[in-house]
Amino acid sequence: MSAPDVVVVGAGFAGLSAACALAEAGVRVLVLDARPQLGGRATAFRDRETGELVDNGQHVMFGCYRETFRFLRRVGAEAHVRVQQTLEIPFLDVTGRRSVLRCPRLPAPFHLLGAVLAWDAMPWRDRLSVLRLAAPLNAARRELLRTASIAVEDGDPTVSEWLRRHGQGARLREWLWEPLAVAALNQPPEEASAAPFVRVLADMFGPDVRAAALVLPTKPLHLVYAEPARSFIEARGGEVRSSALARVRMADGRVDGQVMQDAFVGLPGRAMQWVFDKRVAFGESASHLSLVSSGAAALVGETGAELTARAAAEVEAAIPGARGARLVRATVICEKQATFSLAPGQPARPVTRTAVDGLFLAGDWIDTGLPGTIESAVVSGHRAAAMVIGE
Ligand SMILES: Cc1cc2nc3c(=O)[nH]c(=O)nc-3n(C[C@H](O)[C@H](O)[C@H](O)COP(=O)(O)OP(=O)(O)OC[C@H]3O[C@@H](n4cnc5c(N)ncnc54)[C@H](O)[C@@H]3O)c2cc1C
Repeated sequence: MSAPDVVVVGAGFAGLSAACALAEAGVRVLVLDARPQLGGRATAFRDRETGELVDNGQHVMFGCYRETFRFLRRVGAEAHVRVQQTLEIPFLDVTGRRSVLRCPRLPAPFHLLGAVLAWDAMPWRDRLSVLRLAAPLNAARRELLRTASIAVEDGDPTVSEWLRRHGQGARLREWLWEPLAVAALNQPPEEASAAPFVRVLADMFGPDVRAAALVLPTKPLHLVYAEPARSFIEARGGEVRSSALARVRMADGRVDGQVMQDAFVGLPGRAMQWVFDKRVAFGESASHLSLVSSGAAALVGETGAELTARAAAEVEAAIPGARGARLVRATVICEKQATFSLAPGQPARPVTRTAVDGLFLAGDWIDTGLPGTIESAVVSGHRAAAMVIGE
């Protein structure tokens, strides 16, 4: 390809969403990524023993990831994810009793309140405590209409402090809010700042009941969006190069068979907070379970064998269908730098425009007001593309 109009460094969600927005606007882009595989932190690899494609970490999205959906639609990849009708989460408690948190099709905030009030795994006291969140979430939603970031009252409390301050019952915290916070922020609730969490809740529990719905990839991650993005860019005269380290120089300056009845289930009170059955998600091309332990500072000292043994024991105890199954292969993926820290008092996040003419920043760590998520990456990518085009 002759000299491109714009060079995009990085083929993760941020870089590819920016590159596709530019390509659609008629800009010829060259995307460079240092790694051999596209997708950055949201990618998959082929397991050398089973030959299956395994995600580098289970990713879920939510119906409120509006910019991410815009990106997926743009590259023709919307069908590569499955969207729930409304938020529905199955749970297995430590005795094996199954319960389901299900949002009724009611306007905000009644879908959230209705879901928790009908959740028979919760004592009544905890169910009623959710009513105390209606006012702060309404206030947060109103603030969101004015600004991208949310300031929570009285300084910068952690998620745990904020939940206690708003009277959330211990069991509701342990089963719902804390796992949701850990999944969204990738940091323990007693360390992470409440502001990005409240922002996530305000996005999820807004007027559109589908905003809280879980969105699961139905293909290995790089096939969900990165390869479709590559085709989109190439069809518009651009190029995507992997194994291509960029330097910005500035002038002057397996378990056998299907073992689960659900595609995923929450495991409150265990080290592995979620388990996903990839056969249910991907079909016959996959036969593995994906277990998630987010904000897992307490586990990083364990060896792969110890983590595997812990995970296998928890799956066997929790999932009846796994009890007769033979574990033929396990792999531990430890992403110590999965996302940036959201602890109170962190330095300000950088903005898209830099002091260098023609250099714009994108990435989940840009100041979007969102935690380090796919949606934050895509918001930043679209913002950078708009500034390049001068929108
Ligand atoms: C295990 C795990 C689970 C997660 N789960 C979720 C989830 O459930 N939901 C959710 O929303 N988010 C989740 N996330 C976060 C999500 O993956 C990230 O927010 C998102 O993928 C970040 O995209 P990005 O484009 O900003 O960065 P990256 O994906 O890191 O992309 C940056 C790319 O730039 C390339 N690069 C950097 N420097 C150069 C250079 N000089 N030359 C060439 N290439 C370069 C890198 O190789 C990389 O591919 C998870 C992350 C991890 C690790």
